[in-house]
Amino acid sequence: MGQGILVIGAGGQIGLELIEGLNRFHSPGRVIAADIRKVAINSENPSEVLDVLDKVQLINLIKKHEISEVYLLAAVLSATAEKNPQSSWQLNMQGLFNILDLAKEKHISKIFWPSSIAVFGPSTPKFNTPQQTVMEPSTVYGISKQAGERWCEYYFKKFGVDVRSIRYPGLIGWKTPPGGGTTDYAVHIFHEAIKRGKYECFLAEDTCLPMMYMEEAIRATLEIMGVSAERVKIRGGYNVAGISFTPREIAMQIKNIINLFTITYNPDFRQEIASSWPSSIDDSSAGADWGWSNKVSLEGMVKEMVGKLKEKIK
Ligand code: NAD
Repeated sequence: MGQGILVIGAGGQIGLELIEGLNRFHSPGRVIAADIRKVAINSENPSEVLDVLDKVQLINLIKKHEISEVYLLAAVLSATAEKNPQSSWQLNMQGLFNILDLAKEKHISKIFWPSSIAVFGPSTPKFNTPQQTVMEPSTVYGISKQAGERWCEYYFKKFGVDVRSIRYPGLIGWKTPPGGGTTDYAVHIFHEAIKRGKYECFLAEDTCLPMMYMEEAIRATLEIMGVSAERVKIRGGYNVAGISFTPREIAMQIKNIINLFTITYNPDFRQEIASSWPSSIDDSSAGADWGWSNKVSLEGMVKEMVGKLKEKIK
């Protein structure tokens, strides 16, 4: 086994930013970007077209690049998964099994696999949702993440697989577009505010959801992967809290910068998914075990998103 790091699903919302984050700590040649489609990536990072469901291709690639760590980001997200339940289940579960098995068979030594706040459901306590609580997810995506968490714990306990996981909240970044989740509005709103000065939101104005600035999510990911294995006491997925807000609250913050911005609300099928999720998250276990704490406020994030996106759109 070598020292290569493989990011699978590298062309998505998180992948491109994670690769930039990994490049800060490792020589770019060590970080390999893989995706089912060809992605335009930093030319210093080797890139590969890979279907994570193809185990033969996966093993060949792991040998070729002497991979020891895998970040598995390939998945179908919440809103899209509701439209294609079976193929989404297949990718979200079999993709994970393929990677867990590679670690069990000692081809690789460490895995990062993201879970989500979608593991919670309508019967979960809505505010300050604890690490361990009632979990009855009502979406295809949430069911796959909850099952995935159980399998991660199982592979750790039975086979000693060093798998680490975070329950990401909705992620907001200016570098990459979102990939079909229920919290995508919190990225679209910035693009529309800057380009058109108005936005029609697909969630109701008072829908409060846990969110996180992308830079913070990347920091959390690199932090949990960087600590010694004994400090990772939960293998299924840590709660990590960022900032909780409603569409009305983020719109008000945007209006403070883009004064003429207006928002209207036209909830669609994603409202039901959002309503089944927590409003805020208790992340004290992540704080106690590996030192996590969120550092970015809603105001700070909105200011940075508007500034950076304006530059990018120009
Ligand atoms: P995304 O949809 O933006 O990117 C997923 C990438 O995986 C895409 O580039 C896609 O081409 C690739 N992919 C699809 N099928 C593949 C296959 N068979 N083999 C290889 N690659 C394949 O998703 P994202 O937002 O970057 O999310 C990454 C992970 O983080 C997912 O597991 C997701 O569930 C989780 N997550 C994301 C969020 C969020 O707000 N973005 C929140 C919670 C959890």
